[in-house]
Amino acid sequence: MVTSEYEHRIAARFATFDQDGNGYIDREDFSGAAKALLAEFDTRARSDKGQALYGGAEAFWQGMAGIADRDGDQRITRGEFVNGAVKRLRDNPDRFAEIARPFLHAVLAVAGGDGDGAVGVEETVRVLRVLGVPEEQAGSAAAALDADGDGRIGEEEVMGAFARYFTVPE
Ligand code: CA
Ligand code: CA
Repeated sequence: MVTSEYEHRIAARFATFDQDGNGYIDREDFSGAAKALLAEFDTRARSDKGQALYGGAEAFWQGMAGIADRDGDQRITRGEFVNGAVKRLRDNPDRFAEIARPFLHAVLAVAGGDGDGAVGVEETVRVLRVLGVPEEQAGSAAAALDADGDGRIGEEEVMGAFARYFTVPE
């Protein structure tokens, strides 16, 4: 069935969110990702970009918890993720883009440097790698995003790809 295949893919995405691999998604996974990205791009936590990244990570966590943490214990289990996130994100991908946007915007600022809202392919690969995406997948994903081949990826392209990755069957 299409639905079960889709849920299987979403379950695989669980591993991406569960950054520390302890079997559930919680605030630490999001703040940990922010911390790792700041280290990768040599950015201080107390800088404006660092604060924006932590703020975006917290907002992303709150949004995901609102969607998927059914029992309100501040942890999203695999079951909560699959059952809570699958249907709601599929029914409303715009909602997902909305809760992820502040984080992704801050990631681009940290990784892009010059603040023009675009990021280089190489930096995109570094971001994906830090977030645990396998090297080969990170490379092909980043290259595919740079449709016109100028080596730069815009915020809307990143946002669209991110939403598709998590919400739509491949
Ligand atoms: Ca975790
Ligand atoms: Ca829970």
